[in-house]
Amino acid sequence: MKKLTFAFMTTALMACGGAKDNAPTIEDFNYQVDKFADVEILRYRVPDFEQLTLKQKEMIYYLTQAALEGRDILYDQNHKNNLTIRRTLEAVYENYKGDRNSEEFAALTTYLKQVWMGNGIHHHYSEEKFTPAFSKAFFESAVAQTDARLLPLLENETAAQLVARIAPVIFDPTLYPKRTNQEPGMDLILTSANNYYEGVTQAEVENFYAKMKDPNDNTPVSYGLNSKLVKENGQLVEKTYKVGGMYSAALERIVGWLEKAAAVAENDKQREVIEKLIAFNRDGDLKTFDEYAIKWVQDVESQIDFINGFTETYGDPLGMKASWESLINFKNIEATKRTQIISDNAQWFEDHSPISPEFKKEKVKGVSAKVITAAMLGGDCYPSTPIGVNLPNSNWIRRDYGSKSVTIENITEAYDQASLGSGFAEEFMWSQVELDRAKQYGSLTNNLHTDLHECLGHGSGKLLPGVDPDALRAYGSPVEEARADLFGLYYMGDEKAVELGLLPDAEAYKAAYYQYIMNGLMTQLTRIQPGKNIEQAHMRNRQLIASWVYEKGKADKVVELKKRDGETFVVVNDYEKLRGLFGELLTEIQRIKSTGDYEAAKTMVETYAVKVNQEIHTEVLDRYKKLNLAPYRGFVNPVYTLVTDKNGKVTDVKISYDENFVDQHLRYSKEYSVLPNYN
Ligand code: ZN
Repeated sequence: MKKLTFAFMTTALMACGGAKDNAPTIEDFNYQVDKFADVEILRYRVPDFEQLTLKQKEMIYYLTQAALEGRDILYDQNHKNNLTIRRTLEAVYENYKGDRNSEEFAALTTYLKQVWMGNGIHHHYSEEKFTPAFSKAFFESAVAQTDARLLPLLENETAAQLVARIAPVIFDPTLYPKRTNQEPGMDLILTSANNYYEGVTQAEVENFYAKMKDPNDNTPVSYGLNSKLVKENGQLVEKTYKVGGMYSAALERIVGWLEKAAAVAENDKQREVIEKLIAFNRDGDLKTFDEYAIKWVQDVESQIDFINGFTETYGDPLGMKASWESLINFKNIEATKRTQIISDNAQWFEDHSPISPEFKKEKVKGVSAKVITAAMLGGDCYPSTPIGVNLPNSNWIRRDYGSKSVTIENITEAYDQASLGSGFAEEFMWSQVELDRAKQYGSLTNNLHTDLHECLGHGSGKLLPGVDPDALRAYGSPVEEARADLFGLYYMGDEKAVELGLLPDAEAYKAAYYQYIMNGLMTQLTRIQPGKNIEQAHMRNRQLIASWVYEKGKADKVVELKKRDGETFVVVNDYEKLRGLFGELLTEIQRIKSTGDYEAAKTMVETYAVKVNQEIHTEVLDRYKKLNLAPYRGFVNPVYTLVTDKNGKVTDVKISYDENFVDQHLRYSKEYSVLPNYN
């Protein structure tokens, strides 16, 4: 069976003495880990970790440890009782002697998993407090029979007193209902359950920080970013997160690992980045933080990169306090090479495009994007994680020094592959042939299509002189997206894609074509309410393309909608002709764009992109509902193990993927948990 790795990459790395790659391939990797409440837990691969040098692997190892040490900080930031509640639940879970198959114990297990997923008692996405499905009586008896030494008791507290203290927090829906309250008209600080402020009102907070800010400062620090604001003896004080300050125990360990990482840095620039971050963790001075951010954004050469610290401010209703997060990653050389190949050949693609010559650009410049591989997710990037990152957040640093924007390809791969195993593809794809192609090529062709769309599609073609760029008005956006999508679709089916090594063979593009048409004609309708039209530009463009080629290819039966046992399926009979139709539509769409033909854009969009086939819509919603898919997804991390010889010298770093969701969290709570119950 053909593997998804690029043949030319493997050969190149082997030739220059790279380690043998025994990493799991897409096909034999088990992406699905766990499922509970409204969540599905996935696993991600770290392709090419084995290809890194020993020094790079060692550095990643130290950074991953620093990433895990911050876990408890986030729990405490999310709500002040989170650590106590999590520790109580974990003690009960591990030591319960009653019936572990009972409904109540199962409900407690689900609740504990929800707490791990939310880094506390609130949902990671809705931010609302979970409702437990076990009874307070069960909780009381389960805690009572747990060895008191394992419980997070206060001084001189009994187990019964602990339960009396935290049961209302768990069970009373009116207490701390929302982690971050954004509803205008209320005191957002007093009504938010998070732990960034205590004993202060919104007006006091706003006044406190307004006094600090200088309107003439062109390079202001990020006020309030790394502290909790409290009232002590009637005075407002910032309790700064730093070594010797708040969260000291965890930050000391983080600094320890960062020091080890600095010692094996790839180059001086990277070492300076790490040293600045250490300095910031020590002094807590926001000026040091800005110096760090500037060094970080300028380090573009190193292969390894990372985030570790107080970064995003979504958790604070006033957008000042940052939650702790970490993402350890390294440049995906294969994928970055792919975007480089595309960018280097931008002119060839433009010259060979099917569009009319007067609409082509004489000189076209491709954009190269950085693609990364996540090696570890921590804090607010775990278990739920972003698929792309753009930092730093400071506006003046972005203005003066730029920002780093990356896409995390191994995370999107996990999402794609898990969808293939969820029953979704099995339900909607016509036969095993389409399913096999999707499994074999789907992730690669999805990524390639995105690259062609972003790196070339939007930048190709030109307007005729005198044409108003806004001539297409409201139809401009779906037309532009269709243009970029069609550019990508057309070239994926070109032999040039195989010649350049972007695709492994002449079969691969068929996976992309089939999925595109299936999505555009049917499955994207799962996101539309019954009776509604399509409004969103990307969804409009996809239906436009799919229904246009369906219509135009009807006589030749290029694409058909076939019924089997009363269910509708997309069938593509002729992929070559389908490519020809994509080319034809690209030609027409480019003409509309280049000449600013508003009437044609309107007719095209209104005819093909807006209205929904009611019969198919009802059927699709019905079939989708039966699949019972989880709306939210989280991840488990791989496990890294340092291998040393008898003198303590590091000889290797091993990566393994066999830890499940429960074991991972129980282990993290033992190995990376040094903060007190209350901070
Ligand atoms: Zn686009």
